[in-house]
Amino acid sequence: MSVYLDHAATTPVRDAAVDAWARATAAGGNPSSLHGAGRAARRLLEESREALARSLGVGPSEVVMTAGGTEADNLGVKGLYAARRRADPRRTRVLASPVEHHAVLDCVEWLAAEQGADVVWLPVDDRGVVDVAATRDLLAADPDGVALLTCMWANNEVGSVQPVAALVEAAHAHGVPVHVDAVQGVGWLEGSVGALGADTVAVSGHKLGAPVGSGALLVRRGVALEAVVHGGGQERGVRSGTVDTAAAAALAVAVAEAVAEQPLQAPRVAALRDRLADGIAALDPTAVVRGADRHAPGARLPGNLHVTFTGCEGDSLLYLFDADGIAVSTGSACRAGVPEPSHVLSAMAVTDVEARGALRFSLGRTSTEADVDRVLAVLPAILRRARAAAARVSGAAVTVP
Ligand code: PLP
Repeated sequence: MSVYLDHAATTPVRDAAVDAWARATAAGGNPSSLHGAGRAARRLLEESREALARSLGVGPSEVVMTAGGTEADNLGVKGLYAARRRADPRRTRVLASPVEHHAVLDCVEWLAAEQGADVVWLPVDDRGVVDVAATRDLLAADPDGVALLTCMWANNEVGSVQPVAALVEAAHAHGVPVHVDAVQGVGWLEGSVGALGADTVAVSGHKLGAPVGSGALLVRRGVALEAVVHGGGQERGVRSGTVDTAAAAALAVAVAEAVAEQPLQAPRVAALRDRLADGIAALDPTAVVRGADRHAPGARLPGNLHVTFTGCEGDSLLYLFDADGIAVSTGSACRAGVPEPSHVLSAMAVTDVEARGALRFSLGRTSTEADVDRVLAVLPAILRRARAAAARVSGAAVTVP
């Protein structure tokens, strides 16, 4: 029996999304073509856009289809920066949370290296949560010089939910636009992304049951955004390229299901996550859960449990779990295999030594009590083996709790 606890990396595609994708692919047609086949594809695309907008609490004209979350983040961050600088070249400052996914982080660093941006990293606490009061001060210090602020809705590694609505309010008080990476939050957090009031919002399909490569950038009406990908002028000129109607149809169906299920799935999955956390604490009292308080309402993604196991290498744990048929992650799957401490944990002032034993369990809609119990059943033996391996490497004595 295999157990999948890496839903934050990608979650199984939903049957309804597969059906929608297959029907649209079989129908074919380029939504920009003027003949009947093209008009049929255009109709499906616009119906999908409307459904997506309804589910996310925005208007249909605010939805720009993309090929996933990374592309949406690139368009939001780079597109806002370019538009703001074009309007006023003094706006070079980018305020960014240091716990962003690399899809945002690397855009910000590219803007600094290639486009003259001056990056100010927002202070975060030991849960990885951005300090709103300090952000207000940073905005007030030089409001005319700020191009944009970027902060994710919920962190993919440690699950902490950010005070996005307060950050948006603070930035908008100075006319500064905000990009929000909502990739991990949609379908799990209460309230619509539209209600956050952000200027651009990135959504990814494969985190909520649509196929990999589906996604959208929500662009608030009236917000100036420059194109990143140039070509045929599709998606109101900000995202050229033949629109993937099938991906849009599947995304609309998956988001509708995820949002409709949220009131039931979020507490169910949080309860499973808590069962896992309590079980781990009982088996290994030295294990440290990092990120926002799982008992505080709305503070943490329901399915996220980030644990550091002392005296272990996260990679060893991952492979030992894998050998037992259990899929977990050491953090952001997009960086897996790169042997460097997580930038998220570093920003939270976790030392490199402590960060080594980091493991992320991420539960989702297909997770069950049996999955949790299987993890707990194999955990003691896995910890013994991982600690013995780490001790062999370092030459240290093995302490088994
Ligand atoms: N942003 C966050 C917070 C993520 O967790 C991910 C994926 O891990 C992405 C962006 C990238 O999304 P995609 O895989 O659709 O490109």
